Amino acid sequence: MTPRLKVVNIDCNFDYTYERTRLAALGIDLVEKKAVGEDEIIAACQEADVVLVEGAKTPMTARVIDALPRTRLIAKYAVGVDNVDLPAATRRGIVVANAADYCTEEVSDHAVALLLGCARRVVSMDRFVHAGNWSGYSKGRPLRRINQLTLGLVGLGRIARATVRKMAGFRLRMQASDPYLPPGAIEPGVEIVPLEQLLRESDLVSVHVPLTAETRGLLNEAAFRLMKPTAYVVNTSRGPVIDEESIIRALREKWIAGAALDVVTEEPLPASSPLREMDQVILTPHCGAESSDSLQHARRTVIDTVEAVAKGYWPPYPVNPKAAPRLPLKPWSEFPQS
Ligand code: NAD
Repeated sequence: MTPRLKVVNIDCNFDYTYERTRLAALGIDLVEKKAVGEDEIIAACQEADVVLVEGAKTPMTARVIDALPRTRLIAKYAVGVDNVDLPAATRRGIVVANAADYCTEEVSDHAVALLLGCARRVVSMDRFVHAGNWSGYSKGRPLRRINQLTLGLVGLGRIARATVRKMAGFRLRMQASDPYLPPGAIEPGVEIVPLEQLLRESDLVSVHVPLTAETRGLLNEAAFRLMKPTAYVVNTSRGPVIDEESIIRALREKWIAGAALDVVTEEPLPASSPLREMDQVILTPHCGAESSDSLQHARRTVIDTVEAVAKGYWPPYPVNPKAAPRLPLKPWSEFPQS
């Protein structure tokens, strides 16, 4: 028998028929309680054994987590968990889990689209033609053959590796920097280098790190000053990994040639942001993960996660695996797969 759990979704952005149906089969009720801000979340989750979180900004702060008397699991419909205070959850024995691979394909596709958009300047050429022009586009700014370029990946996790797999067909040189790779780890076709070397040598820099205290502002003024004046930066990870004032200055003063940003520090991007005015900047509205397939994948993973914990197992993708759960959990590898 699966123990009865109270599962509370505090974001409520879509229709939960799928979740309800699967949880009902386990004898678990889903409560939808849209809660905005810390106080509302605390009030909504007083009886929650499991809290489901969708938003990248939903504030699962230490104050909120410390005020949840029953919660055993926080499950996120996303990869990034930078809005969940992991040390606070770990201290309180709350397991935090994400949907680690739900959008690896989409975000890496998006990164490739932005990298090619920069290398072939597709968006600014499109604007040029739409403005009534035709010839003389690349005056003073010659394009380069892509197989002559070097791609640098900052972070070499799931999305970066999928990007490598897709970019390999372009036969360009690839290098990556990731201090957390296990010793001796190799990725075929990718040279592992220190970040400074990557910044100095790359023509295309693609950012794929989680937002943590260490990665906030990782690409700052010093980093942009190391880069080639012909280089482009693509960010599909989290906005604050790039120090925005520094990249604006780097673009204005031509320390780098351009950027493509799916994520920015303040989302939505303020109407007054100088980034909106720059022709050498491609902007997309934090949609790298989006597809109907990825959403369905995330929903399946979140309910797999709840089912595992309800049945006494670790979930498939814990992000704080060192937590001591409030009730003991068996390894996910022992979960009976149907
Ligand atoms: P992942 O956990 O598989 O990979 C992250 C990698 O970054 C790991 O290999 C880790 O070792 C590395 N890393 C950590 N700190 C680093 C540092 N200081 N320098 C270099 N490398 C470092 O995650 P993933 O699935 O590849 O996703 C990466 C990030 O993309 C997520 O954390 C999330 O914030 C973001 N994301 C964005 C979207 C979007 O819609 N644009 C969607 C999903 C994920």
